[in-house]
Amino acid sequence: AAPASASVLAYLEQTFGSWYARGGMRALADALHARCLARRVEFTFGAEATAVLAKDGRAAGVELADGTTVAADAVVAGVSPERLARLLPPETAVAGSAPAVAGGEESGPQAPLGRFSVLLALRGARPVDAPHRTVVHPADPDAEYAELFPTRPGRRRAAPAPGPGVATAPTVTVLRPADPELVPDGDHEAVTLTAAARPHTAVDWADAELAERSADRLVAAAEAAVPNLRDRLLWREIRTPYDTARDTGVATGSVPVPALAGAGGRYLAPANPGQLPGLYRVGGWSHPGGGLAHAGMSGAMVAGLIVDGADWRGSQ
Ligand SMILES: Cc1cc2nc3c(=O)[nH]c(=O)nc-3n(C[C@H](O)[C@H](O)[C@H](O)COP(=O)(O)OP(=O)(O)OC[C@H]3O[C@@H](n4cnc5c(N)ncnc54)[C@H](O)[C@@H]3O)c2cc1C
Repeated sequence: AAPASASVLAYLEQTFGSWYARGGMRALADALHARCLARRVEFTFGAEATAVLAKDGRAAGVELADGTTVAADAVVAGVSPERLARLLPPETAVAGSAPAVAGGEESGPQAPLGRFSVLLALRGARPVDAPHRTVVHPADPDAEYAELFPTRPGRRRAAPAPGPGVATAPTVTVLRPADPELVPDGDHEAVTLTAAARPHTAVDWADAELAERSADRLVAAAEAAVPNLRDRLLWREIRTPYDTARDTGVATGSVPVPALAGAGGRYLAPANPGQLPGLYRVGGWSHPGGGLAHAGMSGAMVAGLIVDGADWRGSQ
């Protein structure tokens, strides 16, 4: 049921390995921040944009939650189409703001899946030969598909309604990095487990019992990759799509999917030029879709459009 490109990913990772940022993903954010400061970018953290301002039919700045306004020649929005539509003047928001495509939809039946993570603190050293990343597959992938997409046409088996948060037997990614910055000390190991999860509101991820039950499923599956996992467990921390919703402002905690060609454009994300001249869309919810690499590419494309104008057609 996966697009061909997704099948190629597993082959590439297994055959050639994959890139890893030393220090974890936080190090990438820190490096980007430092680079921006060197280029004289100014940041205002903890400031919610509550409106995109328009003047003479152009985007002209933003209004912040504390009532201050910031004038701008260009506004670059890194939020979902639904969120952006709510930030725009009403007459602008209506026209083509939230295309009915799977790639751009944050809520509703086509909302993409979220991620459920369990961060484990384990007693005992990380074995030197432990693989960095192991994907533990369930015996019955069709059952997982049916549970994760209970309303999707084409599902191959009926699922219990309203269905669980993560599958009864989920596919679990087990991360055991050897990176010295992520290994606590010689007597302990930090392990991260991740699985696909149904969006918040499709199930109630604020329900602590659902979260604990789901975490138990991931831990049970991960024991295939980390022997005696449960015996070694000191404590665990759970991150659900509810946490993603709080951190990103995406109400469902969905993770945006990469844009895919074909299927009459159904899996394309909204284009980078926005609904107004001077307004641009970046990040996982815009072209070319979700994932850090794509989010970065969207930023590069918008920089090209702003600097070279609407005729910009790619890097030279
Ligand atoms: C658990 C998990 C695992 C993942 N694993 C991977 C992976 O292995 N590889 C990969 O490529 N991708 C992965 N992803 C996806 C990846 O994180 C996203 O695609 C990427 O972060 C999207 O970047 P973004 O800039 O569009 O959005 P975000 O990183 O969500 O940033 C949006 C920012 O905008 C802020 N914001 C929202 N509304 C407003 C407002 N009104 N005013 C001001 N600020 C606002 C939010 O607070 C947030 O800081 C994962 C995601 C999750 C949740």
